[in-house]
Amino acid sequence: MRPFGYVSAPDLPTALDVVAAGARPLGGGTNLVDLMREEVERPETLVDLTRLPLADIEELPGGGLRIGALVRNGHLAAHRLVRSRYPVLAQALLSGASGQLRSMATVGGNLLQRTRCPYFRDLSADCNKREPGTGCAALGGVHRATAVLGTSEHCIAAHASDMAVALVALDAIVVLESVRGARRVPVAQLHRLPGDTPHVETDLAPDELITAVELPATPVARTSRYRKVRDRASFAFALVSVAAALEVRDGEVTDVRLALGGVAPRPWRASEAEGLLLGAPATEESFRRAAAAELAPAVGRPQNEFKIELTQRAVVAVLRQLATERSSAERAEGTGGAA
Ligand code: SF4
Repeated sequence: MRPFGYVSAPDLPTALDVVAAGARPLGGGTNLVDLMREEVERPETLVDLTRLPLADIEELPGGGLRIGALVRNGHLAAHRLVRSRYPVLAQALLSGASGQLRSMATVGGNLLQRTRCPYFRDLSADCNKREPGTGCAALGGVHRATAVLGTSEHCIAAHASDMAVALVALDAIVVLESVRGARRVPVAQLHRLPGDTPHVETDLAPDELITAVELPATPVARTSRYRKVRDRASFAFALVSVAAALEVRDGEVTDVRLALGGVAPRPWRASEAEGLLLGAPATEESFRRAAAAELAPAVGRPQNEFKIELTQRAVVAVLRQLATERSSAERAEGTGGAA
């Protein structure tokens, strides 16, 4: 590892000043420190944020939640209100990494984690994301885990976060602060598609810090699920994942949220599918049609083409499960909750 400067920020104004001067923020360090060891990341100075008062989860008026950027992933997954109001988020968090990593990783760091494309970490490989203009070794190499939606000829890497997929489905807002002030951006707009600048991954300005994530009150999220398809049962990134919430009344979809992971360079809001589902009968046929429409623009390559069919199957399976749960709940409501 190369030598670097280290500042432990005692308060937010100091942290913002140091970041504005070029320092890289350090939260749990579970991704950044790994990449520094491999010399993929070479920051001159790190500013440690862990003394800042950004580790609380607060209820917002109206039923939403404000989650500090330094809340640890494990703590967020276990929070009573997250589990009851946003089960999709708790499930997404618990499906990621390992218990040890979830105890260290922060919400802000999770959103800004770098791709797990193996060529990105291999300094001997061509990688436009690591070194713009060098090429993309994944295109002619191992690309089973790469994206099928939203890619470009310059980069086909998939976004690695599970948590971010759930946040996008929940219409979460990220709060960004800098010495110039604060702004709020939908998580769905935080990450960029690669285009011809795959090294620019987010809309975060160099002097901005993520200080919080806000979840709006979302009644439909009480019936929500995260399903992750991966090569082994734990400590593996998603081949495909689905975050979904569904409300059904009298057999018709009255509200739906759907986002996909493992298939695009950013958490992918399935807006096309949502549009087709809203007002449609809550049937297998509707679910299949919506999933097929969302995946229609997908571009598969020899090793990752399987993701297109797999994603559609995963979407249908999750929606079917949620629709069954809603039907049971409706029946229970109709009988006054009697079993
Ligand atoms: Fe680099 Fe992206 Fe190509 Fe992977 S897919 S080698 S991250 S440019």
